[in-house]
Amino acid sequence: MSENHAPRRSRFRKRTFVLAAAGAVFLGYAAWLLIQILSYRVYPTGFAAPFQEIEGAYHIHSLHSDGRADVDTIAAAGAATGLDFLVLTDHGSPNHASLAEQGWRDGVLVLAGTEISTSRGHLVGLGFDPAPERFAQNAEESLREINRRGGMGIISHPYHKARWSWGPMEGYAGMDILNGNSLLKSGWARILLYLPALPIDGRFFLLKLTRPFPRELDKWDELNARHRIYGFYTVDAHLFYRAMFSFLRLHVILDRPLSRDFQEARRQVLEAIQAGKFYSAVDAAAQARGFRFWGEKEGRRIPMGREPLYEPPCSLRVKARFDFDVETRLIRDGRVIHSTRQKEFLFEAPGPGVYRSEVYLRSRTPLDRRVPWIISNPIFFRKVSP
Ligand SMILES: [Zn+2]
Ligand SMILES: [Zn+2]
Repeated sequence: MSENHAPRRSRFRKRTFVLAAAGAVFLGYAAWLLIQILSYRVYPTGFAAPFQEIEGAYHIHSLHSDGRADVDTIAAAGAATGLDFLVLTDHGSPNHASLAEQGWRDGVLVLAGTEISTSRGHLVGLGFDPAPERFAQNAEESLREINRRGGMGIISHPYHKARWSWGPMEGYAGMDILNGNSLLKSGWARILLYLPALPIDGRFFLLKLTRPFPRELDKWDELNARHRIYGFYTVDAHLFYRAMFSFLRLHVILDRPLSRDFQEARRQVLEAIQAGKFYSAVDAAAQARGFRFWGEKEGRRIPMGREPLYEPPCSLRVKARFDFDVETRLIRDGRVIHSTRQKEFLFEAPGPGVYRSEVYLRSRTPLDRRVPWIISNPIFFRKVSP
């Protein structure tokens, strides 16, 4: 009898040991994750709302295409997270139902463009006059139509989902540098690892899925050698609107405070975006309001998006006067030419070039250290032709 019991007892012991080990690993994992979530906080900006800076979320899908909420619910999420404006981009060619929803809702300026499925990939048309005709399926024809109607064309998620097949770039105004929806492609292991955080704090989950995106940044710099393309951090929200609206934002610099008149306010925001007077930020890591980047020439301030001629002396000024630690970089034609922990600097432009700035968080944060917390739009100091 006893000869039979001994192996059974040892099997039982082995099983107990495996279960205990698995339990310990699980508890360790749960504690590790919980500590991270509990120690996560969004660093607040010290700036109220200087220089008519407004904040919005760009690239949003509603029930008018494949989003999961109606526009009132989306606007309520915008109001709850303190957005000044949001930009719907429902699929269509164009999506008239979505365009008809523009207006003030819950104190949030609701604007709409349309995401068009073209021969090269997804292209957002923004700010165009709606007309009954459909946009062409051919990317360049569609772009010409958008531009002819006074709008701008922005390339969506060039390296994810409907990947963009690159062609002539004349007439394009912008591209996604970081796309919130593409984060879900950041690998199953990573998603599973952080998934339990989603119901606790969606912003933390999104931050942990955010990986560096050198391909997008390199392409952007490459294109800007010959074109003028603005970079966008894009939510591409279909659900989890509140978390998404806290996560990635466009910070638009206006000349005057935002009008309460809808048509005037719409014009102000679209004009500023079409001029490139905005920067993008991962606001779920730290509130970026108050960041400034401009060029200086002959005592005049040159805002982001401008394309002045380079005639020395020209300089670049960066202000990132936040209460937490940051590293600010100045980039010329895709290469870092200055990097500092100083929160403000003036740098003499060594020659013509496309100058832009990136800011990285150096205080404790769930955001990957290699991901730019802020990206400015460039100032294009062009060569004087001989
Ligand atoms: Zn798309
Ligand atoms: Zn989309």
